[in-house]
Amino acid sequence: MTRDFVHESRPGRVVFGVGARDRLTDEVERLGLKRLLVVSTPPQAGLAAALAKPLGERVAGLHPHAEMHVPVATAAAAVDRARDSGADGCLAVGGGSAVGLAKAIAKETGLPIVAVPTTYAGSEMTSVWGLTDSLGKTTGRDPRVLPALVIYDPSLTVTLPAAMSLTSGINALAHSAEALYAPDASPITTLMAAESVRALASALPRVVAATDDLGARADALYGAWLAGSALGATTMSLHHKLCHVLGGAFDLPHAEIHTAVLPHVLAVNLAAAPQALTALQKALDAEDPAAHLYSLARNLGAEMSLARLGMPQAGVDTVVTRVLAAPYANPAPVTETTLRRLLTSAMAGTPPP
Ligand code: NAD
Repeated sequence: MTRDFVHESRPGRVVFGVGARDRLTDEVERLGLKRLLVVSTPPQAGLAAALAKPLGERVAGLHPHAEMHVPVATAAAAVDRARDSGADGCLAVGGGSAVGLAKAIAKETGLPIVAVPTTYAGSEMTSVWGLTDSLGKTTGRDPRVLPALVIYDPSLTVTLPAAMSLTSGINALAHSAEALYAPDASPITTLMAAESVRALASALPRVVAATDDLGARADALYGAWLAGSALGATTMSLHHKLCHVLGGAFDLPHAEIHTAVLPHVLAVNLAAAPQALTALQKALDAEDPAAHLYSLARNLGAEMSLARLGMPQAGVDTVVTRVLAAPYANPAPVTETTLRRLLTSAMAGTPPP
């Protein structure tokens, strides 16, 4: 191995630990922020308000209007609110939707983001933004949307129901799996990705068995942090492309489709990515990582059929056309035959061949 690589460290401070939420005010002071717009989804408005309360006059306003996939109108309203309230930063409390809306604000205004994640999606560790309009979802990279500060407190994840914890965790695991065969993987991203797979795969059964198990929650969130970091530093391949198309075209739930699709993509790709295969075999302690992840998710209660998740059979052609339209890096060649075979298994929810 000649070890050729490029690795760029991203700025950003991470504070991790049970009770880290109590450090929010000190950390915000440290950044010198004086007026934060607090962004969340509607169901997490109460949590966001409670977390923001100790900030007192440093709160410019509460904006609990985040939605999955950041519709352009929602983003525009949030940008207006940030400007009108004289905010000098955004505090995002929640999963990828809350962080996504804060990113939409940061992209337009340059305001720094403080993120307090409550799922395992990992958006807080990336400079990737996404916006959705009637034509679908557009994503891009902008260093201004990478949060300046991330506070990970496992105790904030105990309210995430078992089923959502499982699929959110597999969503994180998918970032790491694809980071292992990314064209721009580095020794650091590979270490992070492998460790995150190990941590998530060992934590998820314990999280599902007892959603208030703080040790299991800490392990899962630690895995999610590493997965988000690997996602932010590498280029994703077929799995993320497919999920992006499925989510955008049919408005399917994000983490659930990642869970149903991942084993099938890995069955295709790992045959062409021997180093990733070895890393996953070791991290999962399993000979066949694709089959192992399928069983793990299904045995813990995940829905493995895209059809039952709401994907229309007639939509397969659209997915195939869109995935083949834009070329991107992938270890195995992506042909129409491969895609149709993969989608047939994923639609039915049967184990990968
Ligand atoms: P989400 O943020 O939409 O959260 C799902 C639901 O769970 C919401 O109703 C939310 O209010 C609720 N929730 C969140 N945390 C909770 C908790 N601890 N307890 C109870 N309920 C809780 O979903 P997500 O899967 O975290 O994020 C998905 C979105 O993030 C997608 O739009 C995806 O494209 C985006 N994403 C972006 C990146 C990136 O790098 N840009 C990375 C990953 C995901």
